[in-house]
Amino acid sequence: MIASSIKILLIEDNLAEARLLQEFLKQAHKSEFTLVHVKRLRDALALLSNCTSTECSFDVILLDLTLPDSQGLASLTPLMDQAPSVPIVVLTNTNDDELALAAVRRGAQDYLVKRQGNVEVLVRSLRYAIERKQALEALRAVNQALEIRVEERTAELVKAQKLNQFKSEFVSMFSHDIRNPLNTILLAAGLLQNNDDKLPKEKKLTHYQLIRSAVKNMSQLLDEVSLLGKVDSGKLQRDFTLVDLKDFCSQLLEEAQLVAAEKHIRLVFTTCEQLSKALCDENLLRHILGNLLSNAIKYSHPNSNVYFELRLKDDNTVVFRIQDQGIGIPQEDQKQLFEPFHRASNVGTIPGTGLGLAIVKKCLEAHGGEIAVNSEVGVGTTFTVTLPLMKA
Ligand code: ADP
Repeated sequence: MIASSIKILLIEDNLAEARLLQEFLKQAHKSEFTLVHVKRLRDALALLSNCTSTECSFDVILLDLTLPDSQGLASLTPLMDQAPSVPIVVLTNTNDDELALAAVRRGAQDYLVKRQGNVEVLVRSLRYAIERKQALEALRAVNQALEIRVEERTAELVKAQKLNQFKSEFVSMFSHDIRNPLNTILLAAGLLQNNDDKLPKEKKLTHYQLIRSAVKNMSQLLDEVSLLGKVDSGKLQRDFTLVDLKDFCSQLLEEAQLVAAEKHIRLVFTTCEQLSKALCDENLLRHILGNLLSNAIKYSHPNSNVYFELRLKDDNTVVFRIQDQGIGIPQEDQKQLFEPFHRASNVGTIPGTGLGLAIVKKCLEAHGGEIAVNSEVGVGTTFTVTLPLMKA
């Protein structure tokens, strides 16, 4: 809608022309015009400096194309940049039709030939320029909103596609990992059933052992999948309490000691003195550090060391470092390490589900924190967890 009072910025170095226009505008009855007159482009740009992409105190610009500090079409771009929402009507001389049309092609709304018009032509041109610019701006806004909607919907679709792909991959990996131990159970149970009298006692024991470890593997897989689902959907309640981190880590190491001792692995714990209690979720922290520690032991060679370091990075950050001298992780596997079911190419017969690190990552996201890995095949692996400390 056009305001009842129209404010015009006239850029015209010829005083006589400016006065003539002023006189014309005074005669207009239907609209009230306020005219601000400047002689140079520079002065106009200064007056327009407060304009934004949608608002300006001027309703329309009347622009002479021959100015002392700018010639021809060159004045258009800086004006349109400075006041994108304000329509421009150019003033040309009698023989400048080509120039006037070029100006319209470059973004001016209309043109007036000097001394050829009357008050009606001038007023109509100004009002038409304002209407047209407003319609264009409205169209542009609708277009922009549409583009944003399209972008958002495309992003949602891509996300949904990725999620679908991830789900089907997850299901197929999960079925594959469940089928393996199930087959073992079927096979061993069949052998036991069909050859009960013929099998020596040790052989029977081996088959029972196979069944037990297959069941254990399946149960671990189910526990991990269900935990991953819980953390992923935010169903795992977060419960922050004051935890004595030194005691907490010592306890974790004590629990891991049994498995480590079987492989003659020495667990070395170092910590700093300044640590006081910190607000943490013990459950999440147990999943994070427990997984990393059991991996360090699992992928270590017998008779090696696993180092567990706990230290303050600064007043607000604590760092856990778990370092082993084990098989290491090939460079090409390191990027996908935290994706569910990904296992590195060098695991050989070492058992695992490929879900531990995915759980670690999700738990860290839920807790707030970061993890970094540094590893070299045949040398060892270091995982560094950085946890921001919340104030009690
Ligand atoms: P997994 O049950 O297979 O151990 P994880 O998700 O815990 O699953 O780990 C994913 C993979 O990362 C492992 O299969 C292994 O290839 C690699 N990995 C993790 N920790 C270590 C480590 N300390 N040393 C060597 N490889 C590791």
